[in-house]
Amino acid sequence: MIEIRDVHKSFGDLEVLKGINLTVNRGKIVSIIGPSGSGKSTLLRSVNHLEVIDQGNILLDGVQVNRPDMKGLQFERHINHIRQNMGMVFQHFNLFPHLSTIDNITLAPRKLKKMPPKIARELGMELLNRVGLASKADVFPNWLSGGQKQRVAIARALAMEPKVMLFDEATSALDPELVEEVNQVMQSLAEEQMTMLIVTHEMGFARDVSDWAMFMDGGVVVEECAPQKLFSNPDQERTQNFLRKHL
Ligand code: ATP
Ligand code: MG
Repeated sequence: MIEIRDVHKSFGDLEVLKGINLTVNRGKIVSIIGPSGSGKSTLLRSVNHLEVIDQGNILLDGVQVNRPDMKGLQFERHINHIRQNMGMVFQHFNLFPHLSTIDNITLAPRKLKKMPPKIARELGMELLNRVGLASKADVFPNWLSGGQKQRVAIARALAMEPKVMLFDEATSALDPELVEEVNQVMQSLAEEQMTMLIVTHEMGFARDVSDWAMFMDGGVVVEECAPQKLFSNPDQERTQNFLRKHL
């Protein structure tokens, strides 16, 4: 479960998040939509402390992520532990180019969980199977299509057995014909009751898989409700205008 409580974040004079509140309950999927620059990525990055928030609280299963009271090594241990429980998938895959597909996936379990190489490889193969890429285990990322790279990135995020998954426009760098294969993997996670927070431009996908949808603009939550309502009959004019351009 993710709890976002009155989160504020500025870059210099620019206030990007102006008091955001959102809860993602266990096993639920929440999608965030909104115009470019509205603060969606900043919010997602704040959830696993890639951005340091100025005010408010973020909790993962009741444990506070931001801990201004902690310093140095103590905070590093704390945040590493938190991050092991949050898988994050970005728009641009961020695979390690010098590692094979399977090594990309098993790196974190080997290093952070001290998993023996043989067990890690078994886990990696299982995950590659799950994303339909068992035949690509020993291939390097450069040899993969964008959709395949993103499926490896998802498998890599799953390797640490996270409690929640964060997706920041996981399909928006992909050619249209490759979007579906990544959506299918995300859909299968949804069916397995993974807790997910998804930033997306894919309105149809968001409507179909989400339990809850939120429209952000200018660093505030303009509207949030069931996706069926948000995408077909939103209350706010700003949401209506945005959807008119994007549906
Ligand atoms: P997009 O749909 O284009 O991905 P977004 O909703 O994800 O947009 P953010 O990336 O969160 O938007 O950016 C929100 C605002 O914060 C933008 O005006 C952006 O320029 C600014 N911003 C983001 N990161 C930084 C940074 N590290 N330093 C300064 N400004 C930043
Ligand atoms: Mg973004």
